[in-house]
Amino acid sequence: MTIDFAHTTTARKNREAKAHRLALAASRQGYTVHELAVIDSTHANERRREQARKAAGIKSRASDETWTLALEHLAAMAFEATSGVTCSQCHAPVRRVPTMGGALVEVDPFAHPHGTVWPRQHNGRVVAVVLAGHDTPPGEDTPLFRQHTKSCAHGLKALERTWKEAPKCRACGEALDAVLAYRSTEYHTHPCCYEE
Ligand SMILES: [Zn+2]
Ligand SMILES: [Zn+2]
Repeated sequence: MTIDFAHTTTARKNREAKAHRLALAASRQGYTVHELAVIDSTHANERRREQARKAAGIKSRASDETWTLALEHLAAMAFEATSGVTCSQCHAPVRRVPTMGGALVEVDPFAHPHGTVWPRQHNGRVVAVVLAGHDTPPGEDTPLFRQHTKSCAHGLKALERTWKEAPKCRACGEALDAVLAYRSTEYHTHPCCYEE
């Protein structure tokens, strides 16, 4: 009889623990589930997953199976953080915070190192202060959130982002399909472009 070591109870518990640590690290870095996706992954997604893995202090590589589990954890954390509120465009979880003027700002579920939205207590309620480049940030311990438009997976901005992150064709320099480029090491030139 052969034992499938990867699927014993101990292995499952280890994977569960590892997935939880990955999800925590990813949330601390402010990543969304979409930015780390394993299905239809890209090199950019992989780079972000690697960053989260290092931040989690995990030395060994995390398998796609472990990451899939980690993203389930992250999705549950995002759902909880946003009480189930989602973006009407991409359906990702978002926090909707009113500004002083009464407009609503949508931000990603977790604080982000490059966040510009400061949910601030004001007269007993939370008000979003959108910081401009010249504004002084409120201090290192204050969590800032990224505007959801920066990570929204819908629309022209998202396409532009994917284009910027995509590897470029060796012949023409234009973007390759990011998902195909991740799947195959042989796809580095458009089929209709010729390498010199
Ligand atoms: Zn969205
Ligand atoms: Zn090309």
